[in-house]
Amino acid sequence: MNTDAFAAHESNVRRYGRSFPTVFTKALGATIWDETGKSYIDFLVGSGALNYGHNNPSILGPAIEYLAGGNILLSLDMYTAAKRDFIEVFVDLILKPRGLSYKIQFPGPTGTNANEAALALARKHAGRSSVMAFSNAFHGMSLGSLAVSGSASTRALGGVARHDVIRVPYEGYPNDAFDSAGYIDHLLGDPGSGIEKPAAIILETIQAEGGMNAATAAWLREIQRICRKHGVILIVDDIQAGAGRTGDFFSFEFAKLEPDIVCLSKSLSGSGSPLSIVLIRPDIDIWNPGEHSGTFRGNNLAFVTAGAMCKMWSHDQFTAGIERTTAKLQGHLDRLIAKFPQFIEQKRGRGLMAGLKCRSQEIVGNVHDFAFQNGLLIESSGPRRDVIKILPPITITDDELDHAIAILENALQEQANVEQGSF
Ligand SMILES: *Cc1c(COP(=O)(O)O)cnc(C)c1O
Repeated sequence: MNTDAFAAHESNVRRYGRSFPTVFTKALGATIWDETGKSYIDFLVGSGALNYGHNNPSILGPAIEYLAGGNILLSLDMYTAAKRDFIEVFVDLILKPRGLSYKIQFPGPTGTNANEAALALARKHAGRSSVMAFSNAFHGMSLGSLAVSGSASTRALGGVARHDVIRVPYEGYPNDAFDSAGYIDHLLGDPGSGIEKPAAIILETIQAEGGMNAATAAWLREIQRICRKHGVILIVDDIQAGAGRTGDFFSFEFAKLEPDIVCLSKSLSGSGSPLSIVLIRPDIDIWNPGEHSGTFRGNNLAFVTAGAMCKMWSHDQFTAGIERTTAKLQGHLDRLIAKFPQFIEQKRGRGLMAGLKCRSQEIVGNVHDFAFQNGLLIESSGPRRDVIKILPPITITDDELDHAIAILENALQEQANVEQGSF
């Protein structure tokens, strides 16, 4: 396998290539192949950007037709037929059936572009500069987003001051006995708390990079109630947990939330093509025309594939399949936890956005390496990288899922054998 070009010429910053040192060429559904023809089940799926699998034919079919047809590819934020079709499908098939009503902003193509736009709008609307963000949050790599992220190394990145962020504990931080929502309510209501009232609270319903920490419906509803009580905008960063990842389209549906602003990206295009949107409660949409602008906010190929992805959600067979897969995955994970309590501390996440909190980073490293050698791509998360991230495509077949879990089980068994051998 020739990886010389990467080692010689690509920046030292490269990460996943080091984690999976092979050269990939082809992919279909949950399976990805390298240059030697070796296959892997993909449980990383572009960190949640390929929820519908690689090269999903229902999504790519319309894109191939669009590409071959001499249609518009880049349009800034001009009106195009592809963009109109996407807006109509998104409103009719995603928002309306869920009783949601939002204006749609097209920011730059990445997730962090959506968060920056959301934070800027919330600050403009409130006329206040600070925002509240949580322990272990991850919101992206541009200055505003890394300021609200929790990880010390992420926040240090910009090399400039990161003002105007009030850090508060997420649910379960530092432990389950602490009432974080009650604390936030108290902070916001107490004139002696020493904090500036924030423009917004930004949160993930499941902190993926932060260790697959899943908030409960009760906590999320309480945070929403507190936001409304104190006149603070609730921003849900649904970049990784949304667009189908948990098994519902939005990650907050199970809690019946109606956030003021929602950021979507990663799997929104359904194809891996970059696309982000910011959903804005109509009365908050106080942008002036052109006030927030940029080049790559008219990726028409992504509009086409996103529209095809949205249409999948109106098929009962599709949603029933996700429910079945979720139950199957959760059953497998419960079994692994019962079998390997010496390695796995806790199940994390929710639905198809799952995690296994292990007892050490070393266990996770060993499992990762064994899995890679045996044909499964998994990654770790959490501040101590001791959580195995389990993100199968939500469209994974039963056979692929069983096969991947068997590799994971063998990896854990191998770990047990090694430990036994060492006594
Ligand atoms: C990936 C991610 C982002 C950043 O998205 P980019 O496209 O990498 O800028 C922001 N928030 C969450 C929760 C994410 O998972």
